[in-house]
Amino acid sequence: MINTLSDKELIVQVIKKAKEEKLIVSEVLNYMEEIDRRKVFIDYGVPSLFKFCTRILKYSDYEAATRVKVVRAFKASPIIKEKIQDGSLNLTTAASLYSFFKNNKKQNKEDVIKKVCGKSSKQAKDTLNLLADHPVPKTLNITLAEHLLRKLESISDDFEGCSELEIIESLIDRHIEQNKRAKDKRRSTKRSKHQRYITRDVKENVDKRSQNRCEGISSITGKRCQSRTNLQYDHIRSISKGGDSSQENIRKLCSGCNARAGVKALGVQKMLQRDSVTLPKSTNYYLEETSAGPQYSFIAPRG
Ligand SMILES: [Zn+2]
Repeated sequence: MINTLSDKELIVQVIKKAKEEKLIVSEVLNYMEEIDRRKVFIDYGVPSLFKFCTRILKYSDYEAATRVKVVRAFKASPIIKEKIQDGSLNLTTAASLYSFFKNNKKQNKEDVIKKVCGKSSKQAKDTLNLLADHPVPKTLNITLAEHLLRKLESISDDFEGCSELEIIESLIDRHIEQNKRAKDKRRSTKRSKHQRYITRDVKENVDKRSQNRCEGISSITGKRCQSRTNLQYDHIRSISKGGDSSQENIRKLCSGCNARAGVKALGVQKMLQRDSVTLPKSTNYYLEETSAGPQYSFIAPRG
């Protein structure tokens, strides 16, 4: 069919199809936004929206990271959604806006969006760099030498199904947790007992029981989540409902499962109010493919 079209018709048709494509992309983003609001991916045994995009929707890491950022950008300003729909804002720029607003909280969002609409990704990036309070986004480019890659490979069995970046993140999380625990230990002698306070013994026993994996169980598949990143201690029965901080009432959950449990207990609206400032930690880290092939950008969280 296509090869019988006239030159003019060929161009007319491809413009029409590209417009349709943009509409479909913005529809998919709307679905993703609602899925993220309900954290419904947790029920399918997927710990984050990013993983939902790569595992279920089969996007590449880069495509998924971009879309997750765009969905987060919707929260920053509903205009972004309109601009994507009418084609004046591309996904790369919308994703950059998410990072920009996160790091430049005092900027007038409407003005900034106006200034990047209709521009190429490169032009938009330059504009944002000029506008930024903090000129250079805090990124860290890591190139892993071969011996380090081999070390990573040698421990990858302990991190089944995790990417290199997730393994690094998990190791950093563990280090932070260890430091925190050491601090707790120094403080615990002075600390007055509080109902919410989880003792070091309980934490250690829960760590042992959970093998440092998320203990969330999908209500649909019945499978355990097992995520190793962003783990938090959670009161199964909340203190306000008579729960205590005993080992039996404490479980380890990843931030996704914790948020989903919150949505189930409190409803989406209450959770949105409660979490209006802090997004799940996992959204701070993304793979970004660079032209140099196997290199990745590791975007460290601010503050
Ligand atoms: Zn989990």
